[in-house]
Amino acid sequence: MAMVDAARLEALVAAIFERAGCAPDEAGRIGHYLTEANLTGHDSHGVARVPRYVDWLREGRVLAGKEVTAVVDTPAVTVLDGHYGFGQTVGPQAVRIGIDKAKANGLAAVALRHAGHLGRIGDFAEMAAAEGLVSIHFVNVVGSILVAPFGGVDRRLSTAPYCVSVPLEGRPPLLLDFATSLVAEGKVLVASLGGKPVPPDALISPDGAISGDPAVLYGPYPEGPGPRDPMMGPGAIRAFGEHKGSGLAFMCEILGGALTGAGTTGPDKRFCNGMMSIYINPKVLDPDGFFPTEAAAYVAYYKSAQPVAAGGEVLVPGEAEARAKAKKLKDGVPLSDGAWDSIAATARELGIGDNVIGAALRAG
Ligand code: NAD
Repeated sequence: MAMVDAARLEALVAAIFERAGCAPDEAGRIGHYLTEANLTGHDSHGVARVPRYVDWLREGRVLAGKEVTAVVDTPAVTVLDGHYGFGQTVGPQAVRIGIDKAKANGLAAVALRHAGHLGRIGDFAEMAAAEGLVSIHFVNVVGSILVAPFGGVDRRLSTAPYCVSVPLEGRPPLLLDFATSLVAEGKVLVASLGGKPVPPDALISPDGAISGDPAVLYGPYPEGPGPRDPMMGPGAIRAFGEHKGSGLAFMCEILGGALTGAGTTGPDKRFCNGMMSIYINPKVLDPDGFFPTEAAAYVAYYKSAQPVAAGGEVLVPGEAEARAKAKKLKDGVPLSDGAWDSIAATARELGIGDNVIGAALRAG
């Protein structure tokens, strides 16, 4: 296990993407968002993705220096094309437009198509929450067929994340942010690199056998850093929550994929994220100020439920992330040896010196 300093990890990732061909501001954003995912406990969408992002950039699957352009632009509705630019660039651009329009009109719908991998969707919801807005995001991952629908063994869905965030005074925003698969693909990646194992019922083989072995998704893979291609495995990730989770994933495909113009997931489609976002300004919708007081009171009532186990606690959405971030900013960001070695190998390959790489590690 490597213990890394968050600020220096962010700087190292930024340096990697500058060397790989991104402008400094874009490289900085990639460093920021990938590190933020680790800080909030979502290693699946964090720095372990560096080698894969660099490969995608080299292969032209994601493009540096792109900006969103508007396909539809009305006061309430925006449709944006991300032109396969880095999600860390076109994602926040789309959110900025949603924030500005919802502030002006009370409500905004923003459809983003052809975004490079958007990573942790919670970052974008938090961006809106920081400006006092509620936001809802239906996302799909075009060309990433990983998940078996309820009742099936064949892959038909992406890991299609769903996210809702609500700002509340004096505390981190409420933030529901998850993949509609039983685990995010990145969690299987982390497990295959020696990190936290996935639950034993997360994956399904073509014969219907339930498994937690990453090889079901990747096929046989080498120990330590090395390529992991989720298209090489025979099986699939399972949708969470039986028919309900599978149904939510289906709607993420329909709204995030079909309605945005990104496309639903399926064979022979170019990889991208589609994101259908709705932004609501509570100040317009709730002029009497009922909402913040009622929501805060409900948080307290919800959390007052008797825990299942002695010493346990009921958490509201977003609490786990806020706690993880506070702890990791103080104590450092733990990375599995496999994840750290694969980042260091990518940095070395791009000509970054061992002194710079090693500087990200915390002493001890
Ligand atoms: P997860 O299973 O860890 O669930 C996270 C959600 O559960 C959060 O809302 C969190 O606050 C809540 N939570 C966690 N512990 C809790 C507890 N003890 N009690 C109550 N609530 C709790 O998340 P995941 O499915 O692994 O998704 C990880 C990340 O992957 C997300 O940020 C998601 O946006 C991202 N993702 C992105 C893509 C993409 O294509 N860009 C695809 C899939 C997933």
